[in-house]
Amino acid sequence: MARYTGAVCRLCRRDGVKLFLKGSRCFSDKCAIDKRNFPPGQHGQARAKKIVGYGLQLREKQKAKRIYFTLEGQFREYYEKANKRTGVTGELLLQQLERRLDNVAYRLGYAISRRQARQVVRHGHVQVNGRKVNIPSFQVKVGDVVEIREGSKKLEILETAKQFASGLLQPMWLQIDRDAFSGKVVALPRRDEIQLPVNEQLIVELYSK
Ligand code: SF4
Repeated sequence: MARYTGAVCRLCRRDGVKLFLKGSRCFSDKCAIDKRNFPPGQHGQARAKKIVGYGLQLREKQKAKRIYFTLEGQFREYYEKANKRTGVTGELLLQQLERRLDNVAYRLGYAISRRQARQVVRHGHVQVNGRKVNIPSFQVKVGDVVEIREGSKKLEILETAKQFASGLLQPMWLQIDRDAFSGKVVALPRRDEIQLPVNEQLIVELYSK
């Protein structure tokens, strides 16, 4: 399935929650969820059907995929890997999503949204342990140093992102030097540090059928 390229606010409205896909707009009074919190489309304002069972599980998976901009095949792989490891499968699944390089670039304040972070990585502005890495799904590990490459530090989008990120909570699992555009992975993210509106247990139930 192709990557979704339409208006992302529609995705939040479909799920009825803020998925924070648009950077600063998500925190402003222009957010579509604050202004029109009903599903998009002609019948969006009709009385909503209560979603239960399989529909609810599917909705949770879609939410997680949308937040991290992953496609079905890759998302399923994350689940399969999590399921093979010892531990809580749902938490291990989210941990892999958080450890994606594009997400880490977003968390470190190199972009105002995960979507923009994906572009920053794809365009080769990021290095891991001194080497350029332009693969958004690259998994970081404890001890990795994720930085903006020297020649890219003057980019305007990075300065804007830095200012935006200074108003956000700093994740405890990352050590951040905002001025140097540098960050170190000091731990793996725990579930309580991944503040997302996703019930990962429902995703596990969906895949384990
Ligand atoms: Fe979602 Fe952000 Fe659009 Fe609000 S502004 S609907 S949180 S993408």
